Amino acid sequence: MPFTHRLSPSNKIRLAEVPTSGHDFHQSRDKAEEEFKALRKRLAHLQNRLYASGKHRLLVLLQAMDAGGKDSTIRHVFKGVNPQGVQVHSFKTPSKEELSHDYLWRVHAAAPAAGTIGVFNRSHYEDVLVVRVEDLVPRSIWEKRYQHINDFERMLSDCGTTILKFFLHISKDEQKKRFQDRLSTFYKQWKFSVDDLRKRKQWDQYQEAFEDMLNNCTTDHAPWYVIPADQKWYRNLTISKTIVHALEDLDPEFPSVEEGIENVVIE
Ligand code: AMP
Ligand code: MG
Repeated sequence: MPFTHRLSPSNKIRLAEVPTSGHDFHQSRDKAEEEFKALRKRLAHLQNRLYASGKHRLLVLLQAMDAGGKDSTIRHVFKGVNPQGVQVHSFKTPSKEELSHDYLWRVHAAAPAAGTIGVFNRSHYEDVLVVRVEDLVPRSIWEKRYQHINDFERMLSDCGTTILKFFLHISKDEQKKRFQDRLSTFYKQWKFSVDDLRKRKQWDQYQEAFEDMLNNCTTDHAPWYVIPADQKWYRNLTISKTIVHALEDLDPEFPSVEEGIENVVIE
């Protein structure tokens, strides 16, 4: 079966076999950019309905290697939506206070409210990624987290949150190009950290941790999508298409208007 981005709970994947290039799926960049613009308008319209109806919640979660395109996806895909109805949370190294609670505490607090879209730039999955690779807690602790996470996401889903999880899949060569670009472009240098190079040396361990995350935490209620992300135009198109489809399925309706509104005369 051809790879279709959305993983299924019954099929395990090998990340090394999944393409990182969008050219394998869509030949024309110009056509993709045209489609993307139309989808962006559709997203703005659907978000307006989501906000007005105030019923559903949508959680869009992004994970990737450094320079995988998380920030840029958020910037492009959500350009044009009403900022009032979207909250973006970027999860950093936990603070002292966050560490004094369980690892899902800060995540649950950031989950989207009714009528809104929550965007997670990194997430609770860091607790089975960086925490695992850097050996921040022993295996006996992090390996239980896959089940905790599935249960947590099940609870969010049961309470009316639609969950879309995107793994931005880039090649090691593409990461090198993007680091190089950050180093040599004045206004991008701030994004570069020497620590990123240390993580790059652990590329294989990270890929293994991502693969386990994808295989252990793909459920019907909270599926993972593996997005070939070497080409930004393909990444943006596929992610916005998936979000628009999810919102079309929810089909949020404008609330009914107050009774007698048709007779109102404004003096
Ligand atoms: P950035 O997204 O480039 O601003 O970097 C955020 C940093 O926070 C990354 O190095 C993450 O690995 C780190 N981080 C996020 N969540 C956790 C966590 N739960 N435990 C340890 N480090 C984390
Ligand atoms: Mg960074």
